[in-house]
Parts: sequence; C-alpha cells; structure tokens
Amino acid sequence: MKAIRVHEFGKPKVLRLEERPDLQPGRRQILIRVKAAGVNPVDTYIRAGTYAQKPKLPYTPGLDAAGVVEAVGEGIKGTSSGDRVYAAGTISGSYAEQALCKESQLHPLPSAVSYSQGAAIGVPYATAYRALLHCARAQRGESVLVHGASGGVGLAAVQLAHSLAMTVIGTAGSQEGLALVSQQGADHVLDHSRTGHLEEITALTSGRGVDVILEMLAHANLPQDLPALAVGGRLVVIGSRGSVEIDPRQLMLRDTSIIGMLLFNASERETANIHSALVAGLKKGTLRPVVGRELPLANTADAHEMIMRPPAYGKIVLIP
Ligand code: NAP
Repeated sequence: MKAIRVHEFGKPKVLRLEERPDLQPGRRQILIRVKAAGVNPVDTYIRAGTYAQKPKLPYTPGLDAAGVVEAVGEGIKGTSSGDRVYAAGTISGSYAEQALCKESQLHPLPSAVSYSQGAAIGVPYATAYRALLHCARAQRGESVLVHGASGGVGLAAVQLAHSLAMTVIGTAGSQEGLALVSQQGADHVLDHSRTGHLEEITALTSGRGVDVILEMLAHANLPQDLPALAVGGRLVVIGSRGSVEIDPRQLMLRDTSIIGMLLFNASERETANIHSALVAGLKKGTLRPVVGRELPLANTADAHEMIMRPPAYGKIVLIP
C-alpha cells in the first residue's frame, strides 16, 4: 500500500510517498481502507519537530480519516467489514491507503456524509465541541464570537453554535471566507484582517458583549478580545502561535475567565461522549463538514504548505 513517511523532522519536503507492506489487524485492532485523510495544523507542527510530543521516526502522519472497514482483529465485536466509518485518531497514521485503529477511534459515518467530509470531523469537530460545550459551557440563546471561523475548527464551531440557537459572530480574513462563514450559520461576520474589527461587537450585542469567545489565534487577539466579553464571559484559547501581554484588570472588570484547551487532554469517556453527539448531529444534518480542497496523497507537501497559509476555506483533505 502507499503511505506518506517522514524519516526526519523538517519542512514539508520531508513528506515522502512510499510503498509499504499491507497492514494486518492485530488483537483488538481494526483495519480501514482510507478513502480520505484530513490535514490538521497539528500535523505540520509534528512534522516540523516543534510539537511537544514527537513520534518515533520514521512515521506516517495524520490523525483523521474516513473509509471502509477492511478487516477486524480478534476481540472486536461491534464493528464489521464493510462498515463506513470516520477515524478520530489511528494507530498507524492516516496519510495512507490503509490505517490500523482502535475500536474507540472509529465512529459510524452516516450515508449522507461523504468520505471527504468524514475526514474533516475528528480533530476539528471534537475540538469545537469540547471548547464550546465542555470548556465554555455555552448555553442555548447565548452569544459566541468564533474568532477564526473560516477553517476546520471555526466552521465546526459555527455549525454547533447555530444548532444550539446561539447568536453567532464569525470572523474570516477573506471575502470568500466571510461568505462561507455566513452561509454556514453565522448571524454576523467580521473581517479579522481589519484593525479594530471587534469594535462592532458592542453594537451587535446591544452593548452587553459576547458570552463566549472561541479564539484560534490568541497571541494576535487576546488583548482586544477581553473588552469584547460580557459580564461572566468565557474565552477558550484553542490556537496560539506566540506569547502576548494582557491587562488582568480586563478580567476583573467583568468576572471573565480565560480557559486553555487541548483536545488531547480529553479522557476516553469524554471523547466517546463528544463523538456520539457529533454522530447525532451528522445524522440530523445540523453538522455538515465543509471540504474546501481535495489533493492526491502525492501532494501532501503542498497540503502542509496550504494549511499554514491564509486564507482558509474549510478543510483540506488528502485522497489516497
Ligand atoms: P485552519 O483550518 O488552518 O484555520 C485557521 C483559522 O484561523 C482560519 O479561520 C483563519 O482565518 C484564522 N485566522 C487567521 N488569522 C487570524 C486572526 N488574525 N484572527 C483570528 N483568526 C485568524 O486551522 P484549524 O484546524 O481551524 O485550527 C485553528 C487553530 O486551532 C490552529 O492554530 C490549530 O493549531 C488550533 N487547534 C488547536 C486544537 C486544540 O486542541 N487546542 C485543536 C485543533 C486545532 P483566515 O484564513 O480566513 O484569515
């Protein structure tokens, strides 16, 4: 089978397409035929060797995939060959024609959801769900600013918040991104490439501020976010690529909290709860992953360049 292999950490060119022996499922393992693999920013941090946890070299990158169960190992009861599934994590890496998974990493892919859409679920939707519901404890009818709404996590958050009847304000840095965020359920859109774009929050929330902020680029936005929060507001830091100085008085003035969130800290039980809610939303059609670009596996290096370069427009997926 074909797989992307990384033999040394570094720039995207270290992503090499290679021929590998076919995989066989061991005890309590499931083998899937990968139809699409999702590209996440974290894949690029791991490949560059800058992420806190580094895999042993050589390795096959990728956490997210969707495909069909090809074979099951001993001890597997609830999954059968031929099942359509999405993978939120794998044992062997998802940028490949085949991937080995634990049963807990696989979830049913409803028939109306394509394989490419399935590859867009794992990290982005679980992150958005955990940030919005478990960390910010968002309530029906509250308002949320999705600061960075045009990419994988942001669009998932917009759809989730919209399905909760929240007032959704989403930001993007391009006209195409703004139109997409609006089409996916945001009540208002703001251009984060414009200085002072958060000044409109006061008018959009009748002077209250927003109850929740989901922040994709905290080092760029945190000082401006804090005055945009309502009394009792919660800000969840999802992404940040540097450090930043804030005035703690901005927190005191409104009883607000800043909560850091890393998806990989979720327990197995929390993860299972998140995915059963996501599968329900996918079945109902309230969650509809947006795939912006599909690239062949041979172009993985281009996909890694693209995901780090704005503007975002939904999800980038690889087709083996
Ligand atoms: P993505 O698909 O590449 O999207 C990036 C998003 O950030 C786009 O909406 C982009 O908007 C936006 N952005 C760019 N400049 C911005 C600015 N100045 N202010 C606000 N937003 C800005 O990436 P993703 O998968 O959605 O992930 C988003 C971030 O969350 C990444 O940093 C990722 O590493 C992180 N993340 C963290 C976790 C966790 O567990 N904490 C999990 C998943 C992802 P435009 O391109 O339209 O400008």
